[in-house]
Amino acid sequence: MTRKKTLKDFAPEDLEYELTERFTDRSFRRGMTMSEMELLIWRACGMENPAALRTLNSMLARIPLEAATGKLCPKCGKRVPVKAKDREREIRTMAGRVTLKRNYHYCETCQLGFYPLDRTLELPEEGELTAEMEKRVLDFALNDVYGECAARWRVHYAEPASDNLFRRVVSRVGAHCMAVDQQVLQEELKPAPEAAPDALVVEMDGSMLPIRGPEPWKEAKVGVIYRHDGETQRPVPGSARYVAVVNGLGEFAPVFEDALRVERAEEVHTVLWLGDGAVGNWRLAEQLLPDAIQILDWYHALQHAVECGKVVLGEESPMLPLWQERSTQLLAAGEPAAFIDELMACVPLLPRRSRKESLEALDGLVRYYRANQHRMRYALYREAGYPIASGAAESAHRHVLQVRMKRAGQHWSMPNARKLAMLRGALRTGGALGLYDGIQRARKRSRAPAHYWRRGHFRYAREGTRERRRCLAASN
Ligand SMILES: [Zn+2]
Repeated sequence: MTRKKTLKDFAPEDLEYELTERFTDRSFRRGMTMSEMELLIWRACGMENPAALRTLNSMLARIPLEAATGKLCPKCGKRVPVKAKDREREIRTMAGRVTLKRNYHYCETCQLGFYPLDRTLELPEEGELTAEMEKRVLDFALNDVYGECAARWRVHYAEPASDNLFRRVVSRVGAHCMAVDQQVLQEELKPAPEAAPDALVVEMDGSMLPIRGPEPWKEAKVGVIYRHDGETQRPVPGSARYVAVVNGLGEFAPVFEDALRVERAEEVHTVLWLGDGAVGNWRLAEQLLPDAIQILDWYHALQHAVECGKVVLGEESPMLPLWQERSTQLLAAGEPAAFIDELMACVPLLPRRSRKESLEALDGLVRYYRANQHRMRYALYREAGYPIASGAAESAHRHVLQVRMKRAGQHWSMPNARKLAMLRGALRTGGALGLYDGIQRARKRSRAPAHYWRRGHFRYAREGTRERRRCLAASN
């Protein structure tokens, strides 16, 4: 009877091989994805080293040879024959570079080519990286300029990554992020609430990004949605969703609507829509959530009064602080009509020297307040514990877009600006750990037949959606 060999029985030169085989025996199962193998090996052997690479190759060698029979087309489900055998793909894994040989199938009906092995391993369809590597490259690329990413990469990894690799990954994953159903994406990035929350706060704001080409600046819209806790009268921590879209309201609206739907905005008892005085903002509020309580941002309301005071009294006037104090009082009282009356009472008292400018300034302020009267009941809002400042949207511009996209010397092409803005919004919603996998899950779900995932439909800006899809097609 033969005794099972223990590790002592092996010559040193055979030991490594034996250890690898034992590890593989224990760990390998059929149908494993590349990520599962990489993560397992990472924990056991680290990454980018000979033992890790040997183990990965040993695992890949256990995948049964592909039979040259027909395989099901991922689109129509019909069985289609092999078109080419043993096509090689070199791919960079966490363990090192490996070369895979896989069969290529082509469906004539769908005009779709596919590699069954790539799909089993869940490798990205394109590119030179496994999903685990792509995830890491993306994390760098979304948080720093590409040159700096390449430098910082070397702190963590032995094999360098070029500026261009970061750029390509943003382009690839950004295209996926834009192409998926945005409602599904929002659900995958952050779970929908189980029940409609008591109160929801909705804010949006625009700012400009530097763009290459004839128009040097393009507007980016950022929307923020968060749950409001009626008891503490504070935002529910971790509940914020961000949507960032370059190129105006038409493209922003349908994406924002999808995010609102995930938060069940239509079932929520109290929706507060905060914004500055921009007309488009309120128009969108009325179209998407006609029952929302609209609130004019407190600081914008006050700022307008102060600017008017500067014109009427003069920039250096010692009366300005008094003007500001009185404006604050009248605004806080929440009766814009009384404020307007008091402003009108100033008209006969206007200094003759600057009468025309002063009249214009007063007129502008009165019109602004008249248009927004019903959004300025600040006393009431405070009593109810509602927020009155749209600081979340304004700070979102900084932490979603500007920290990455408005750095010295940056000028974006439109397709890249669109993709990066979308990805940055998704990153802030899903977090660093959830982003990449969230996008991949959304892609899988979006590929299922439309009726499977689509519960509602766009009410607003169908044009915008088409436009978005068309631009996407053109950029690829
Ligand atoms: Zn097909």
